[in-house]
Amino acid sequence: YKNAPNTLRALLEPGRGFGAQEFLVYQDQRLSFDDFFARADALAYYLVSELNINKGDRIAIAMRNNPEWMIAYYAIVSIGAVVVPLNSWGSADELAYGLGDSMAKWVVCDQARYDTITAAPSELACQVILVGATGSAEYLSFDAIINAHLGAAMPEVDCESDDIAQIMYTSGTTGRPKGAVSSHGNICQAIFSFEFHGTCSAMANPEAIRKMFSTGFAPCTLLSVPLFHVSGCYAAFLLNLRAGRKTVMMYKWSAEDALALIEKERVTIFSAVPSMVVDLLRHPKFKTTDTTSLFSIGGGGTACPPSFKSTISENLGDAYVGTGYGMTETNAICASCTGDAYFYKPKSAGTLSPLVEWQTRSPEGGILAKGEVGEIWLKSACNITAYWNKPEATAENFAHGWMATGDIGYLDDENFVFLVDRAKDLIIRGGENIYPAEIEACLSQHAAIADSAIIAVPDERLGETPGAVIRIRDGATLSETEVKDYLADKLAAFKQPSHVWFVEEELPRNATGKVLKRDLVQRFVK
Ligand code: AMP
Ligand code: MG
Repeated sequence: YKNAPNTLRALLEPGRGFGAQEFLVYQDQRLSFDDFFARADALAYYLVSELNINKGDRIAIAMRNNPEWMIAYYAIVSIGAVVVPLNSWGSADELAYGLGDSMAKWVVCDQARYDTITAAPSELACQVILVGATGSAEYLSFDAIINAHLGAAMPEVDCESDDIAQIMYTSGTTGRPKGAVSSHGNICQAIFSFEFHGTCSAMANPEAIRKMFSTGFAPCTLLSVPLFHVSGCYAAFLLNLRAGRKTVMMYKWSAEDALALIEKERVTIFSAVPSMVVDLLRHPKFKTTDTTSLFSIGGGGTACPPSFKSTISENLGDAYVGTGYGMTETNAICASCTGDAYFYKPKSAGTLSPLVEWQTRSPEGGILAKGEVGEIWLKSACNITAYWNKPEATAENFAHGWMATGDIGYLDDENFVFLVDRAKDLIIRGGENIYPAEIEACLSQHAAIADSAIIAVPDERLGETPGAVIRIRDGATLSETEVKDYLADKLAAFKQPSHVWFVEEELPRNATGKVLKRDLVQRFVK
């Protein structure tokens, strides 16, 4: 998109024009666009003039969804610093890794993350700005900074399209998460792709237009997914800030609370992972809740469960449905579709964004024809071009402008994307990625465990959950409870295995020593 802005600051500048209009509703707080920008400007001013933050310095955010998350994000990227959003579900070790790997100078965090981070045995190398606290010798108070500097102007900084805006961690097949490095240009292109491709598919759909105008309600998004993933950060936060839409934000997912908010705030757009959409539509209170304002419902980021389509068509009346496919490394952009297009090919993850070039490759690297199944490679202005500080992983996944997705699928003759499998060993539990290698590495350090493999266990609601197949060392003993207790404080709660199976014999492996997980799935799950 040639006329897209080059920097996030320029991209989001139109938001200032919405002034006193409501931007953010969070619990009992209501912030106008003016309120939002005044706070962000105050923080940005302080970062530059008091903390001497320079262009390119990394500042991490470690918080659950709250208004300060958004304020910090906007302030950081607007002064040319690099924002590092960390997964707030991470354990002490996982958070410490993100802070250390990105070499963050500061972290903006909430009390729970502060407690987690400071409980880690290793010393915290970065300094802390704490939300919801008065200052102390150990940290600065976010609230005090804002209160003392309201009215300050956003400092001017030189920033260009190729400058780094963000490092977002995404789990790697080799255990530790990798930092996906996005430039300002990458994210600006992604937001334009959301606007144009998203709007075009809605505009091509007369029913959707009719519904959108007939609700009579101002556009309003319910944000129920984490801000630390591209889906929540871009599709709700950045798009809405730019476009003047109200955002109703949840701290934590609850279908009952979501229904109450939809009715009270007259929410028009709800886009989340499929399990949340199903939770909402199946909730006993759905039928007695006034959801007439809702005209758009979406579920993506992971395969939709088999019941998804029928649940929607049974319950949804005349709202229109959408889905999409993308990943952190593509800044969420690849394919999407809504309404008629969605029901035309319900098994598809959508049509290709006009920005995205597609290749399907054979295992030998040859380029396959349309309709043939292979690994998906993508090229677009939205794609990242490197992992932070990981030249080997970068060389493995990126070549000549193309990026390996690790997904297996095909493109049909009408440019609809179909995903059939994954080349990468990855489990997606309700939209959160879990890399089996990370759990396996943890298990391998247990004295009683000789070998282990983590396999995907299908789950109607969450899509998949991790199951552990474990071979106990000769002479040792181990129970399911002991395994679970052992992993409990090493890995985030969502990564804990739902099932544990013990085997006596060697795990099945191929000639190169890789565990044949398909065989284990056949034996234990199917
Ligand atoms: P993440 O980087 O966490 O956003 O995860 C991206 C991965 O999620 C992709 O590479 C796919 O494996 C998976 N994914 C995303 N969208 C879909 C979809 N619509 N259907 C199936 N898998 C998906
Ligand atoms: Mg990823």
